[in-house]
Amino acid sequence: GTAHYLVFSEDMEEERREAAIHHLRLRQAILAGEIIPYYQPLVDLRSRRLIGLEVLARWRHPERGILPPSEFIDAAERAGLIGLMFESILRQASQDAARWPDGLKIAVNMSPLQLQDATLSGTVLDILSQTGLSPLRLELEVTETGIVHDLGTAKRVLAMLRTAGIRVALDDFGTGYASLRMVKELAVDRLKIDRSFVVALASAPESGRYVSAIIGLARALGLGTTAEGIEDAATMRRIAAMGCDLGQGYYFGRPRPMEGLDSWLTCAAEG
Ligand code: C2E
Ligand code: CA
Ligand code: CA
Ligand code: CA
Repeated sequence: GTAHYLVFSEDMEEERREAAIHHLRLRQAILAGEIIPYYQPLVDLRSRRLIGLEVLARWRHPERGILPPSEFIDAAERAGLIGLMFESILRQASQDAARWPDGLKIAVNMSPLQLQDATLSGTVLDILSQTGLSPLRLELEVTETGIVHDLGTAKRVLAMLRTAGIRVALDDFGTGYASLRMVKELAVDRLKIDRSFVVALASAPESGRYVSAIIGLARALGLGTTAEGIEDAATMRRIAAMGCDLGQGYYFGRPRPMEGLDSWLTCAAEG
């Protein structure tokens, strides 16, 4: 009846108000520099050397401590703040990386929504020139799960980035849909094999065929491969034997803030 309707609509109102407050708070957090980069090693599986670091966002919340992306990335996408967050993360990571040993690259995550923003490549190139990081050291990771509504814009944005020397990886490969079409149309440089396939290697031997198939596909198309979620030496050896070029996972190191990178960077500098 009417009473129920009233309660319902007050709940909706309340939810909207909470969402608005949360979005406002997130915007402040981005502008105040509370969203910071953590870094996780990307390792060449043949030489076992560090070749770069993936940038993973964390919210250094003044009351709640360090929050993972699952607490704020979706909200940032819904609030239209994902571009602002990306710019802040890219700027901080480029500043950090400009001081690392020369060859090391950074891999920065991007929402597929951002491929619909025709100004993206200009923004990225401005940040790189301001921070002094070579575009050759930047790779952008896009998840294939997101729907790209306007493929034309996405292709143009990626083509401009690629012309500048920036590389693009398709993240969580094998878990989304329209994968092959995305690989072809977006002309990506690298496939990141989703952790679910890698983790399954230990328990389900047949999942080795899926990993092999993805690596074979990448080879045939001239693309690089990264296996995520490598947690032990046995998995690392199996994946390396299958011909995957790069590995990432807790076996090599968990994500750390800039202050914790010294030992990794020293090793990389010593060669
Ligand atoms: P992702 O890009 O697939 O990143 C890999 C995730 O797996 C990270 O979780 C990482 O901490 C975790 N991981 C790495 N190695 C292992 C392992 O050996 N075992 C296990 N169990 N987990 C491992 P994280 O940092 O919580 O990030 C989750 C997701 O949030 C990322 O998945 C990415 O999709 C998204 N994300 C993170 N930072 C950003 C960002 O700056 N922008 C956007 N748009 N998305 C981001
Ligand atoms: Ca990623
Ligand atoms: Ca991934
Ligand atoms: Ca993932």
